[in-house]
Amino acid sequence: MKIDTDKHIIMFENCQLTRGVNRTVISDFQRHQIDFLDNKIFEIINNQSRDFSIKQILNNYNKQDQDIILEYFEFLLDKEYAFLCDKSEIDFFPKLNLEWDYPASITNCIIDLNKNPDFSVYNQLIKDLDYLNCEDIQIRDYYGVLIDLLCDFLNKFNGTTLIRIELILKKTEHLNIYKKIVKSYPRINSLILHSSSINKNYKISMHQTMACRKINVTDENCCGIVSANYFNLRLEHFLESQYFNTCLNRKVSIDKKGQIKNCPAMKNSFGHISNTSVIDVIKLEEFQAVWKIKKDSIKICKDCEFRYICTDCRAFLESDISINKPLKCKYNPYE
Ligand code: SF4
Ligand code: SF4
Repeated sequence: MKIDTDKHIIMFENCQLTRGVNRTVISDFQRHQIDFLDNKIFEIINNQSRDFSIKQILNNYNKQDQDIILEYFEFLLDKEYAFLCDKSEIDFFPKLNLEWDYPASITNCIIDLNKNPDFSVYNQLIKDLDYLNCEDIQIRDYYGVLIDLLCDFLNKFNGTTLIRIELILKKTEHLNIYKKIVKSYPRINSLILHSSSINKNYKISMHQTMACRKINVTDENCCGIVSANYFNLRLEHFLESQYFNTCLNRKVSIDKKGQIKNCPAMKNSFGHISNTSVIDVIKLEEFQAVWKIKKDSIKICKDCEFRYICTDCRAFLESDISINKPLKCKYNPYE
């Protein structure tokens, strides 16, 4: 490809660069994919490409480096991560505003079910979550909840503003029964059946999926795994992660015993749902403290190129210090 070096090279704003200690990652939020870049090219793109033409940039380097830089620019253009424009056009392509906010005090809630759940204790919680405009609920069952009881529980969400329910259930019944449940409750966007004999995915409708997994999810301690499989390439996640914890921000959880917590696997309880209002709990400074532990404040993660697209976990850490790396992440950005 012959590049017009009088032009400026500009990244598309849906392709954000994150510099790690050893390399830079390109997060493409439109095609939901990542790619990698040398950190020196990150510096050029980040600090020079808006002010200087490609020719002006190249003038600062020797012939060998010029060839390498041009090769990287070709890569960025070829993959449609960047485009060329004249200096006079640059203001038409402003930088993305990286602020984040959301019109709800709580965006998501985890409810862990006990062995013999008494669903009547959740009545006030559901009203409170509705009042708080919470849109996502994850219901996790480790023991094989009775289907009739589960359906009664799901009926309690009728008429609320809640949009999506993710169910994680222990498989104890025939698959058709679960498919029927998903079809009957349009709010269920995902049903994952653990302790199954197979690993298989099913598409139930345009917005509803079901999956069987052989893994046996025994309790809340099975959560917290950080891996590339869970990278989140939504722009909202990327923006939120600049300021907040990507797992716990605006989350409330109810553990198996009905205790209100940031996360079911955490020790600290803020009261029982039978006598404590979630609306009051989420206002507490102590409850909100973990919301603000963003990746840029966490040891090791702050140097990792994946810090704005991976998830986080504050329940299982490499040591007791609250700003340590998640225990269940095996990636080392320094290697
Ligand atoms: S803090 Fe960890 S264990 Fe708790 S919900 Fe988040 S990922 Fe799961
Ligand atoms: S080191 Fe930290 S930022 Fe990097 S992948 Fe692991 S948890 Fe995510």
